[in-house]
Amino acid sequence: MDRQELQKLRDLPIEGVAERLGLRVSRHKSLCPFHEDSHPSLSFRVSKNTFRCFVCGASGGPIDLVMRHLNFDFKAACRWLADEHNIIIDEWKPAPTDEVHKAFDATRYERFFERPWLNEEARRFLFDERRLDPRVVGWCRLTSWKDKQGVAWLQIPYYNREGKLVGIQNRNLVRGALPRFRFPQGSQCGIYNLPVLNLLRPGEQLFITEGCSDCWAMLSSGHKAIAIPSATLLTNDVRGKMEEVRDKLDIQFHMYPDRDEPGERLFLQLQKVLPSLVHHQLPPDCKDFSDFYTLNIKD
Ligand SMILES: [Zn+2]
Repeated sequence: MDRQELQKLRDLPIEGVAERLGLRVSRHKSLCPFHEDSHPSLSFRVSKNTFRCFVCGASGGPIDLVMRHLNFDFKAACRWLADEHNIIIDEWKPAPTDEVHKAFDATRYERFFERPWLNEEARRFLFDERRLDPRVVGWCRLTSWKDKQGVAWLQIPYYNREGKLVGIQNRNLVRGALPRFRFPQGSQCGIYNLPVLNLLRPGEQLFITEGCSDCWAMLSSGHKAIAIPSATLLTNDVRGKMEEVRDKLDIQFHMYPDRDEPGERLFLQLQKVLPSLVHHQLPPDCKDFSDFYTLNIKD
């Protein structure tokens, strides 16, 4: 690919690329797909053709946005952009698919979750701030580590229904520090806590939450719960998986949507997939279920 061809891709309007990736852009902003976002914190600078998230620090141009959002390497991202915009780049031959998707290497990480260990920062976050039930923390195999700079991270494993590790979300435990989240290459952090589906009896209730924090709160209050990625548009992948759950299991679906517009929007999208989804209303002083849980838990 020559310089001129590359420049064509770099000049593709950033907001158009974002929309093609499924982000909803309004007034040069959208919800950030790279962290649990409930208020649009990803902003687009049309004059420079760049994006930037003020919460997690993600930033760059059209190619970077595609790389991060689809987990592609540089070449694959360029190819995707060119294909999507009918830009013909002669020299490329179709690559084998395993070259496009860098797969998640579970064997590198599995051992971290065999003996979960919580450092002081993690214990403070989970038990003092979030007031979570230690049995839930154990079930979810939450563990912690410190990077070379001494920053403490909570490590959150994502398993599929068969119990296979498919992705990891690292959450920064230093308040206000950036980036807030990190994902190892190829992590598939779609639906959280899928193994709980194996424990459901016919007719039992399953709560659907936004993001893992609300899921831990829901589990700690004695409900069975899974989480879908927070307040982003329902992706086709998540939608397909939810349809499968609906068709395979005889269960009742429940949800406490976040008390904001994206929360209600997500509920409506999900209701199209799960027509019997029951809406629960949070009280006015709680923005999400974690708030509600921490306010109401008794010592
Ligand atoms: Zn972000």
